[in-house]
Amino acid sequence: MVEKVTDGILWVAGRDRFMPDSHIYVLGDTESDNLTIVDCGIVEMGAYKLSELENYGISLEQVKRIIMTHTHIDHIGCLREFLEKGIHIEVWVHKDEATYLEQGDDRVVFGNKMFESLVRSQYSIPSGFFQFNVNRKLEGGETFDFDGAKFQVIHVPGHSVGSIGLYDQSRKIFISGDTIYAPISTIRYDLFSADPDQLKKSLINIASLEINTLLPCHNRIVRSGADQMIKNTVQHWLPMLK
Ligand SMILES: [Zn+2]
Ligand SMILES: [Zn+2]
Repeated sequence: MVEKVTDGILWVAGRDRFMPDSHIYVLGDTESDNLTIVDCGIVEMGAYKLSELENYGISLEQVKRIIMTHTHIDHIGCLREFLEKGIHIEVWVHKDEATYLEQGDDRVVFGNKMFESLVRSQYSIPSGFFQFNVNRKLEGGETFDFDGAKFQVIHVPGHSVGSIGLYDQSRKIFISGDTIYAPISTIRYDLFSADPDQLKKSLINIASLEINTLLPCHNRIVRSGADQMIKNTVQHWLPMLK
C-alpha cells in the first residue's frame, strides 16, 4: 500500500517473508517527472511495489534516480527489477559502497556467508547480478532540492561503511535506512564493512539532529515526536558499542 507521509514523501512498506524486505520512499511532487526513489527491497520484491505505485498514479517514467541508503541485500536485491523497467534511472550510492558495486564485489550486499547461502538457496542469482554502474557517488553533506524534495545527505557509517541518511532540516524529517529504526531495535554491526566505533559516532550525530519524523527502512515509521525515541535508542546502544 502506498501511503502519503507528508507533501512530497510517499511510503511503500516492505513485505517481510523469510527475510526482511526494506520499505521504499518516493520523494518529490507526484505530478513532476523528477522523482527520487529511496531503496528498493529484497530480490523479487520490486514488482508489487511498482504496481502499487502505478495504481497510485506514479510511473517509473517520472523517476530520475534511485538513492540507496546502503547496499545490503534487503535494500538492493530488486534494484535490477527497477532498472530493467526504467533504463533511464540513475543510481546514487555513497562512494564507499559504490566501489564494491562497480567491481561486482558482493560482500557488502550479502553481509556474511550465512546470509549469502540463505539467499542463494531461495533465489537463482546469476554472477554479476550485483554489479552496477553508479551514476553519482555521494560523500555526505550534499543537499538536493528536486521538486518538493529537499534533503541533505548525511553519512552515517557503522551498520555498513557507506550507510547514509537523508535529512530535511526545515521539516525535521530523517530517512534513516537501517542505522536507527523504531523503536529500540537490533542495529546490526557485525556484517561485512560494519564498524561499532563508527556506528557509535553516527548515532551520536543522529541524536544531535532535530528530528520530528523518523522514516526508517524497516518496522513502523514515526510520524511525530521521534526525538525522544531516538535519544532513548541511542542511550540504549552506546554502552554496547565499545
Ligand atoms: Zn542493512
Ligand atoms: Zn535492512
